[in-house]
Amino acid sequence: MKAALYLGRESISMRDCVSVPPGPAQVQLRVSHCGLCGTDLHIFHGKMDHRVRTPQVIGHEMSGVIEAVGGNTDSWKPGDRVTVRPLDPCGHCPACLAGHSHICMNLKFIGIDSPGAMQTLWTVPAHTLHRLPSNLSFETGALIEPLSVACHDVRLAELKPGEFAVVQGGGPIGMLIALVARHAGARVLISEVNPFRLKLAHELGFEAVDPHDTDLVARVNSETGGAGADVVFEVSGVPAAAEMMTRLPRTRGRIVIVAIYPQPAPVTLFQFFWRELKLIGTRVYEPQDFEQAIALAASGTLPLDRIITRVLPLESLASGFYDMERGGEVMKVLVRCS
Ligand SMILES: [Zn+2]
Ligand SMILES: [Zn+2]
Repeated sequence: MKAALYLGRESISMRDCVSVPPGPAQVQLRVSHCGLCGTDLHIFHGKMDHRVRTPQVIGHEMSGVIEAVGGNTDSWKPGDRVTVRPLDPCGHCPACLAGHSHICMNLKFIGIDSPGAMQTLWTVPAHTLHRLPSNLSFETGALIEPLSVACHDVRLAELKPGEFAVVQGGGPIGMLIALVARHAGARVLISEVNPFRLKLAHELGFEAVDPHDTDLVARVNSETGGAGADVVFEVSGVPAAAEMMTRLPRTRGRIVIVAIYPQPAPVTLFQFFWRELKLIGTRVYEPQDFEQAIALAASGTLPLDRIITRVLPLESLASGFYDMERGGEVMKVLVRCS
């Protein structure tokens, strides 16, 4: 079987590999599609070499079919269409014992800390599986993981129908948050600088502005009768947005941090005092978020196909990363693994 191996900074090699047979409580999957995410790009740039042991297969946004099962894998059987929730918690740390195993203190992320999905046959723990309904394409199935992130973020925001939400950053995750938030009944304004993503946001029926040529604070205030936004999702990860996010919410509004900030960014803490703001951290997803994402995707109400801008053969993985890095007309890039 073939596998795309990450060998080190900007080096990917296609190899013929021997597949790993499923052990107890494991299943072997035939991977159909795998999405490229910002974390994968980060790995490709060599910025996570402290976690990724080379050579390593990466990738964690996938769809596929069960090829073989080991022992003790409940009712899973070959032929089942599935996606993977790529978290492997320890089960015994204080976070796990408190019921927060998705943010386990010893969390292993499958596809970063252990082999990922960018190969034909992939062996994973059976506890990571979620069933994909037959009406969901494998392309859309590969979006369930990032869609679950969006479901988790909107759930933790406690977003209510009729509320006004601002999404800072209209990339794949930001756009999925906007779609889930609108589905939850919120009015959504997207702030994004990339013209292609702005255009897509407009085509999907969102209000969307470039914060460089629109006064975002004035716009939000005019849309909310001077009150401010109920919720701000900070997805962009740029310091200017961390500065902006405290200026947008209403009194007692919520700010949800979705972006990964590798460096501290200045934040106007005074606004938390003055307006009694709430700051909510969000990371990955819980099983219920995967179930919600699958149900939402299967309902066909979200235009998820518009999020996928390119599908490449696994052999062209590196060119997919260069596409993402150049920006421009790119949202989600998928690779076909079998
Ligand atoms: Zn990801
Ligand atoms: Zn744990």
